[in-house]
Amino acid sequence: MPFVTAKTQKSAYDVIVVGSGAAGGQSAYTLCMDGAKVLMLEAGRKYSPETETPMFQTPDVAPLGGAGTPDKPFGFYDATVDGGWDVPGEPYVRASEEDAGRFEWWRARMLGGRTNHWGRISLRNGPYDFKPLSRDGLGRDWPISYEDVAPYYDKVELLIGVYGSNEGLENTPNSPPECLLPPPKPIVSDLLVAQRAKRLGIPVIPGHRAVLTQPLDHLRSPARLHPGNAAAQRILAADMRSRGACLWATPCGRGCSVRANYQSATVHLPPALHSGNLDIRTDAMVYEITLGRDGRANGVSFVDRTSGKQRHAAARVVVLAASACESARILLNSRSAQFPDGLANSSGKVGRYLMDTVGSSVSGQIPLLESLPPLNEDAADGHQLYVPWWLYQEQHAGKLGFARGYHIEFNGGKRMPGLGTGAGLEWLTGGGYGAKFKQDVRRYYGSFVSFDGRGEMIPNEQSFCEIDPKVKDKWGIPVLRFHWQWSEHELKQAAHMQKTFAEIIDAMGGKPRDPPKSDGAKAIAPGGSIIHEVGGAIMGSDPKTSVTNPWCQTWDVDNLFVTDGAVFASNADKNPTLTIMALAWRAADHILERMRRKEL
Ligand SMILES: Cc1cc2nc3c(=O)[nH]c(=O)nc-3n(C[C@H](O)[C@H](O)[C@H](O)COP(=O)(O)OP(=O)(O)OC[C@H]3O[C@@H](n4cnc5c(N)ncnc54)[C@H](O)[C@@H]3O)c2cc1C
Ligand code: SF4
Repeated sequence: MPFVTAKTQKSAYDVIVVGSGAAGGQSAYTLCMDGAKVLMLEAGRKYSPETETPMFQTPDVAPLGGAGTPDKPFGFYDATVDGGWDVPGEPYVRASEEDAGRFEWWRARMLGGRTNHWGRISLRNGPYDFKPLSRDGLGRDWPISYEDVAPYYDKVELLIGVYGSNEGLENTPNSPPECLLPPPKPIVSDLLVAQRAKRLGIPVIPGHRAVLTQPLDHLRSPARLHPGNAAAQRILAADMRSRGACLWATPCGRGCSVRANYQSATVHLPPALHSGNLDIRTDAMVYEITLGRDGRANGVSFVDRTSGKQRHAAARVVVLAASACESARILLNSRSAQFPDGLANSSGKVGRYLMDTVGSSVSGQIPLLESLPPLNEDAADGHQLYVPWWLYQEQHAGKLGFARGYHIEFNGGKRMPGLGTGAGLEWLTGGGYGAKFKQDVRRYYGSFVSFDGRGEMIPNEQSFCEIDPKVKDKWGIPVLRFHWQWSEHELKQAAHMQKTFAEIIDAMGGKPRDPPKSDGAKAIAPGGSIIHEVGGAIMGSDPKTSVTNPWCQTWDVDNLFVTDGAVFASNADKNPTLTIMALAWRAADHILERMRRKEL
């Protein structure tokens, strides 16, 4: 079995990968398919989406009708085990509990991490997104450009399967032919949003999600992804054949037992395991990177969560992929005489420039969508269509009063009714019972739309994490303390979102549930709550002002890499995970090349 224990773990590996989510999964996949011997250490428990996903259970059989609980804050159908906004025994500290300075942190302690229940929205950053400082003088430029990352976006799209379309819009890159799967059909409310938004000059185009609308091209993609590597091609072709296409019936947030959507545990890990080059140790909570006498990393120390004992694993190269803040925590906790402020922190930038996505929402009711005949609109579980940022020219001309843009995700339609269906109609009906209530539910069911803005946050000096001097988790590992502050740009952007969403609802002939908020501070969701946290070990071209070089390799320790969102130098409005995977693949290729040259 490739799942190892204290007894079966080997004495040394080529590479240790810490974490098994999007970053860890991609890193291990690329390394193993090219022959590197990898040990993956994952803090959470072993988890099998194929056998543990209650995919076909309907709301009538779910405990509490599927409603959220402290264990499962997003409801029974959320795949998360051992995680959420709170992880028992693993606290963190907030420097401020005020709304304006509050940071929230979602973690998942399970094989595959948060890829088990993420939204699967998979957008490429565009050329502008890598050079924001050069465009408007704010934030930081990346030391790489879109052209450096584009080949890796292609590879990730081909491997995991992403639907979408090429529209040729500004800073919304096209994919090369055959990289994207065809998008699904929009539902009725999507079509109405598209029609009315277009009247306002707002473009609505097919979304991009990591969901298989058709089987993957197992005949051609393996050769494109692994040229000259017959063994990798064979393993990948077999794996691609075994993934089913989407059934359009079951919420993706609980995971997909037919493997039609992307989860690290169903897409990255099976072929990596089949290569014979991957060992996985679960329940392994890494707390420190260890150094040899030469000052280079020689392995990691971890707590075996099943026994509480401290253990060690050795390797030539260490890859941190524990998610942005956890990777920063491990670096900061790896103190030594040589690195008293934490490992790879000679710049003092570890933990710095933490970013999330700007979020703001408005929902409304649309009379045109009332009393429609019953329809099966479970569809692609959201993001059939979306609005990319469209006001580049107006912003450039200084007409908006804030920097950086947002995209719009929207939802509506008649999904399978659940416990909450029909609840909260009082604002429309004034309340009702019996036959009148049933009539109201039939009339209004499916007539609601909601709009969620997802915008770029500019990195700032006040948003960061550090080690709290007092608090430790149940394993005795010092925990993070978070500091957070939005700038005027994010607050004005959130107010702009509210105004735009109200205008679209108005153009649809509807009315917003609540009046749009003109005060950005009231409109913006708390830091971290959109769960797109990145930064904390940013990449750059100067070792004095950044933690890693353009290859995700730490400046201070050349056999130590960080391949998760910690390296992001900015956080474009595009959801981060596709970029995390593209950068992880690129970094793994670099490691392989340096290992071939005997430099690592
Ligand atoms: C509800 C939800 C919806 C989302 N929707 C989207 C979306 O639509 N699009 C998008 O781009 N992103 C989305 N995200 C964000 C996305 O999930 C993350 O960007 C992505 O999972 C990050 O990958 P990662 O590998 O860095 O971290 P994770 O997926 O969190 O994986 C990290 C892994 O490392 C393990 N780990 C942590 N610390 C240690 C340690 N000390 N030792 C060993 N192992 C450790 C964790 O247990 C975990 O398994 C969403 C997230 C949530 C929760
Ligand atoms: S909607 Fe499709 S991708 Fe999502 S869980 Fe169901 S079958 Fe899987």
